[in-house]
Amino acid sequence: MKKIIYILIFILGTFGKTFSQDYNEYYFKFEITDQSELDTITQIISIDNVMGLEVFAYANQQELDEFQKMDYKIEFLQKDVSKSIAMATTVAEMSSWNRYPTYSVYRQLLKNFESNYPSICKLDSIGTTKNGRKLYVLKISDNVNIEENEPEFLYTSTIHGDEATGFVLMLRLADSLLTSYNSKPKITNLVNEIEIFINPNANPDGTYYGGDNTVSSARRYNANGVDLNRDFPDPRIGANTPYQPETQIMMDFAEQHNFVMAANFHGGAEVMNYPWDTWTSSQNSHADTDWFERICTNYVTIARTVLSNYMSSIRSDGVTEGGDWYVITGGRQDYMSYWHQCREVTIEISNTKLLDVENLNKYWNYNKISLLNYMNECLYGVRGVVKSVEGFPLDAMIWIIDHDSSGDSSMVFTDSDLGDYHRLIEPGLYDIVASSEGYSSDTAKNVSVTLNNTTWLNFNLVAKDDSISLKTYPALINDTLFFDQLITHDIVISNDSSAAFTNYEIEIENGAENQWIELNNYSGTLYGTENDTVVVSINSNLLNAGYFSANILLTSADSKMDTVPVHIIVKDTISTEIEPIIIIDTLWGGEISDYEIFIENNGLISLNYAIQIEDNESNQWISLDKHIGNLLITEIDTIKASVTTQGFGFGNFNCNIIIEKENSTNDTIPVSIYVKDTVSVQIEPEFIIDTIWGGESSDYNLMIKNDGLISINYSIQIEDEESNQWISLDNHIGELLITEIDTIKASVITQGFGFGNFNCNIIIEKENSSNDTIPVNINIKDTINFKIDPTFINDTLNPDTIKEFPVVISNTGPGTIKYTSLIGYVTKSEPWIILTNDEGIINGGNNDTIFVTIDTKDLTSGNYTCALIISEESGKSQDIPINIFVNFAQSVELMNDITEFKLYPNPFSEQIRLEFFTFRVSHFNLSIYNIWGNTVFEKNIATLNNEKHDIILNNIFSVQNLPNGIYFIQISTSNYKITRKIIKN
Ligand SMILES: [Zn+2]
Repeated sequence: MKKIIYILIFILGTFGKTFSQDYNEYYFKFEITDQSELDTITQIISIDNVMGLEVFAYANQQELDEFQKMDYKIEFLQKDVSKSIAMATTVAEMSSWNRYPTYSVYRQLLKNFESNYPSICKLDSIGTTKNGRKLYVLKISDNVNIEENEPEFLYTSTIHGDEATGFVLMLRLADSLLTSYNSKPKITNLVNEIEIFINPNANPDGTYYGGDNTVSSARRYNANGVDLNRDFPDPRIGANTPYQPETQIMMDFAEQHNFVMAANFHGGAEVMNYPWDTWTSSQNSHADTDWFERICTNYVTIARTVLSNYMSSIRSDGVTEGGDWYVITGGRQDYMSYWHQCREVTIEISNTKLLDVENLNKYWNYNKISLLNYMNECLYGVRGVVKSVEGFPLDAMIWIIDHDSSGDSSMVFTDSDLGDYHRLIEPGLYDIVASSEGYSSDTAKNVSVTLNNTTWLNFNLVAKDDSISLKTYPALINDTLFFDQLITHDIVISNDSSAAFTNYEIEIENGAENQWIELNNYSGTLYGTENDTVVVSINSNLLNAGYFSANILLTSADSKMDTVPVHIIVKDTISTEIEPIIIIDTLWGGEISDYEIFIENNGLISLNYAIQIEDNESNQWISLDKHIGNLLITEIDTIKASVTTQGFGFGNFNCNIIIEKENSTNDTIPVSIYVKDTVSVQIEPEFIIDTIWGGESSDYNLMIKNDGLISINYSIQIEDEESNQWISLDNHIGELLITEIDTIKASVITQGFGFGNFNCNIIIEKENSSNDTIPVNINIKDTINFKIDPTFINDTLNPDTIKEFPVVISNTGPGTIKYTSLIGYVTKSEPWIILTNDEGIINGGNNDTIFVTIDTKDLTSGNYTCALIISEESGKSQDIPINIFVNFAQSVELMNDITEFKLYPNPFSEQIRLEFFTFRVSHFNLSIYNIWGNTVFEKNIATLNNEKHDIILNNIFSVQNLPNGIYFIQISTSNYKITRKIIKN
């Protein structure tokens, strides 16, 4: 057991973790503008990694709710779930170390270690988690059941349940130590000389969150939704009650031991991280920083002999002081180092938290030598025993003069069971004091420590006659002052020994350098159980703003009795509170937004200030409504910062608002505005794909609609226009007001460009915005040339007549055509019309004749219409309209009601024109059908005999608005009808 020198009395800050009732765990990232923002954020959520200004973090529901008040733009992330997580369901399946154990296999493996190696391995359960799982610790050492004069060393892993690489590596390390004992000298030496403790999994409820048989749902937090590595007492912030079960178990375990050195394994990054996590190195660098740097560098150097870029994700040298990466509070590393004087580092072992099982062997190979070397470090430095001259082991403090700092808790204490101490330190010459209550201190001068060696130094202390015992209260002074402020604290010194009287001296350590702190009394005598009060005066008038610390030392009869650390922060008297600390927003281009900035004078004097935009000239998008002001004490000013986005383009706009305070430092409010593209257009179609015949032309309408918030200028063009002359646009620039639509016609002409696929892009450039692209893909089909004669058949036949009409198909092109023919649009179903052949092949330059046979034997008097449809294999077709009038009144002159019918253009897009003559009728009907036979237009039109009609259909019906496709146009009288297929493009 060891003595705890500090009586831990901490005032809980306004921040205190409370139990979360909602056990969700969220993973997300966000951006900060300055590392210092993390000091606040780290006390709200669990930061996992910081890469530049990008922060990755976890939170439970309550932490997330709190964090969201800070207005960071959060991007939620998938948790790092591995792809192949093979589980070992038997101990035998762990033999290749390429699986994660189920919880029962984990337990059995540990039990097997103990039963197979009882003389060097002992298994302990140090406590039970909320979900009933055990925290196991293996002790591996020779004479495992006896506490020897050996350093106690601890490896612990997976306090974050999903960071499981270390979990498997710890099991493998234990296996390796046990199986190689007495065969490998290096391992044998470690087991003989060190009491090795291994806790493979510090958060089994997190690792087995998905149940005992899988780690695939492993998560960071414990079953209560708390990050255990933020749950420990913190040297800067203080205690953090109530503690989670796992935390309390680990604290009790640490209390029962005297760990000299430790490491805890994490994942999600690859770096060696040494104390402190709660302070940056510039705020408070550990007294043994050089030692930490060296052993961490050794770890990385050896690992890199296996994988040269291992541990380079955070720092190129693979080593960082914790707070310099990012500050956390309540971490285990700082707890162990501060409260137990242990040297603990955090080893971030794999960038992937839950490694694919096939990578577990690789990570073992990277680390296996370093794991052993790291343990070996606890054998070096200065070690020995402190005993009374009578030979009793003592509970003593080992203090290195001009090196140790009680603010760092860098001194070490003996393990009172054997009196052994182990002071790991860099090579050098040191004056070392051993002190124990009731004994005269002893100082060893010029103790030499060399690299990778052990300096043995024993102390034998002489008991003091008067058995002095002094206690001080408080144990720590922590305060915040303004400039020129004087505050006092009372230190109560009490004599709790049985001595009749006790003399004491109280002094400021390095008093010459610490004149800002004074005592009203430097020595005294206590009679019996009397108390003395020493007034500590702290005067900030000698100090600048910042953090200061010193120690008040209490001695009695040359024995160092107690140390009261003093930590103060000196604030500007000109103290302002400024809100917000940052302005982050996303605006639409064209939008105007105002932000209120509050400046409160919470200092001790009235204040003149000036507020301005840094680099005002180039940041005209932001302005302030006020530039100077005066604030009386407690007064608040509100300044409006207006951001206008019109005319400044889009993207990120950053600047600083600087608040200059008379006689004081400046404050800065970073402003980050993201201006979204208001130039939002809707373009149709998204692409043009078509197949057209060689020689044909085709038009495509492009529609550009401005659905953004400002008017836009655009230009539209064919990419690589020179080589895409087959396509052209009827318009190249335009301006669109809000909601306005422009239509641009893209015309494709195929004549003279050959056949095949033609591709290009139509590019729409918008002022101050990104381009849009409409890909065009036109397949130009080879022209099939054939001519058909006649192009229509019109005849008047007598009843009971058979007449053949030859239709000649001439192949006027060079290739071979293959055609089919059929009768379509037949007005009467009886077989009054037949074809001699319905298919054929015609070589270039040849022709073929189809005979259309009309048989009127079953027909009554009247008009019969149909069409001969001749289709070429490639899809091109031509209709030959057939109109037969069966005439019973043979004396009547054969004459149609409608003659010389012409229709053009066909196909059409904008307009269509009809020309014909009418005879003998006073009215005719003009109608249009779609392909389903539905009437889309119908009109009865009056006419004279022998009147020429020239109808531009657009004048009576908007044919240009018809959807593209096939239609039929029909002119009919009471006994005559003419029908034509028309195609709308
Ligand atoms: Zn972690």
